Amino acid sequence: MCTLSSCLRHDAASIWAHLLPVLDQVMELNHFVDTIHFLSDSPSSQYRNKYMFYIISQLSSHHSSITRITWNYSEAGHGKGAPDGIGATVKRLADQWVHFGSDVGNFEQFYKIIESRLENVIIKKVSEEEIIQREKLIPEQLKPFRGTLSVHQVLWDLFTPKITMRSMSCFLCDVGEICNHGKHLGYIINSNYAINKNTITDVTSYNIVPLAKTKRKFTNQNKIKLISDILIDVTNKTTHQ
Ligand SMILES: [Zn+2]
Repeated sequence: MCTLSSCLRHDAASIWAHLLPVLDQVMELNHFVDTIHFLSDSPSSQYRNKYMFYIISQLSSHHSSITRITWNYSEAGHGKGAPDGIGATVKRLADQWVHFGSDVGNFEQFYKIIESRLENVIIKKVSEEEIIQREKLIPEQLKPFRGTLSVHQVLWDLFTPKITMRSMSCFLCDVGEICNHGKHLGYIINSNYAINKNTITDVTSYNIVPLAKTKRKFTNQNKIKLISDILIDVTNKTTHQ
């Protein structure tokens, strides 16, 4: 999937706006998703800053079935990931189009070419208005987290009053817990904390018919290799079920 915008902003508000169609797509594939794991690189100008830590806590307001999020940052300079590959494919296609003598004169032309020629990539547009809308929802007075540059994992849970910050990704120690493996950095306040579990929409009331459409063919090219230093526990945690 790839989101496109004529607005060139790369700040937290624009990342929020670009994330929403991605979340919509995920939820369309499966309405029952309650946990989202993000994997991104870690420039503090984009993904790793106090605004993003706030936005992580707000994503459940778009899809109420989302109750847990982990955001995992790869170390700076650790090479490119799958998302960069998609971006490169999109740009290469536009380049080829120009090489073959056609014009890509403006954003709409670019969108049309990409949308019609790239069969395996879902393309969504994000408008500047959507970015401005998100910007208005970000509080101006957010406290920075001391040690932001050491943060490599943020864990959010709707039912936990604190957002947990770690120096490395750990999936063995739960959100709100101090990591037994020495990766704990601190907490920040979860501004979207739900005290009462009953306030959450009952996910079983969703229409499950679209699930039938979600069958997709996966080839070796779709496989993602985890190259970061991440601890993964393969057992499902059932704390909130
Ligand atoms: Zn741990």
